[in-house]
Amino acid sequence: MRICRVVVDSEPCFGVLEGVDADGRARDDAMVALVSGTPFTSATADGRVLPLRETRLLAPVVPSKIVAVGRNYLDHAKEMGNDVPAEPLIFLKPSTSVIGPDDPIRLPWQSERVEHEGELAIVIGRLCRNVTAENALDHVLGYTCANDVTARDLQRSDGQWSRAKGFDSFCPLGPWIQTEVDLDEARITCSVNGEVRQQGTLGDMIFDIPQILVHISAAMTLLPGDVVLTGTPAGVGPLGGSDRVEVSIEGIGVLSNPVVDHA
Ligand code: ZN
Repeated sequence: MRICRVVVDSEPCFGVLEGVDADGRARDDAMVALVSGTPFTSATADGRVLPLRETRLLAPVVPSKIVAVGRNYLDHAKEMGNDVPAEPLIFLKPSTSVIGPDDPIRLPWQSERVEHEGELAIVIGRLCRNVTAENALDHVLGYTCANDVTARDLQRSDGQWSRAKGFDSFCPLGPWIQTEVDLDEARITCSVNGEVRQQGTLGDMIFDIPQILVHISAAMTLLPGDVVLTGTPAGVGPLGGSDRVEVSIEGIGVLSNPVVDHA
């Protein structure tokens, strides 16, 4: 099932999307079956069905926080000159960094090098505290694509990552939440203006999804709707003012965002 959030009568509304091509893009005739409630409480189809072209996709979830894992692919740790961590290295991105599909990533004036990081995002479905590897996945609603946009120069000069990864618009999420997907062999690709920059296989993550959730939930409670970013494969690179960046994950979809310079 693909859970999306769309605009209905100027209000956000959850729905179930039908009509996605094998390449992970919604077809022109895609339809959204609207639900009342949320997928985190009780969502029930209420009979309203809307053509996707008559609305627009929002970020599929509004998280209270985004917890991200750094250096979770060997080839990316190497390209940054870092050792592989002994346990997941986590950091937070603010909820205000979230944008949806096709919303612009705004390059801040404070940075001269903003980079893309295509990542798998886990969407938490149930309150998650001290989970075990065995029951961790019971707390997951589904998965979506994310771009952990990073001001690389500020990440280095600040000495910690809050500002570099926390600017408004630095966490594109979407295009929808896929609830059933086999991730082990799924390829993740990040392209800029159609040119592939990053490619990896989700099975290559150093720490897998249960290990990540065990580690995070032993420190902080994850709430329904919270988002966990799982790290990026090699090939991170700069974004420029008129680029279009796309994060694509097999079996999930394509998250596409334009990039704009600061005003
Ligand atoms: Zn990242």
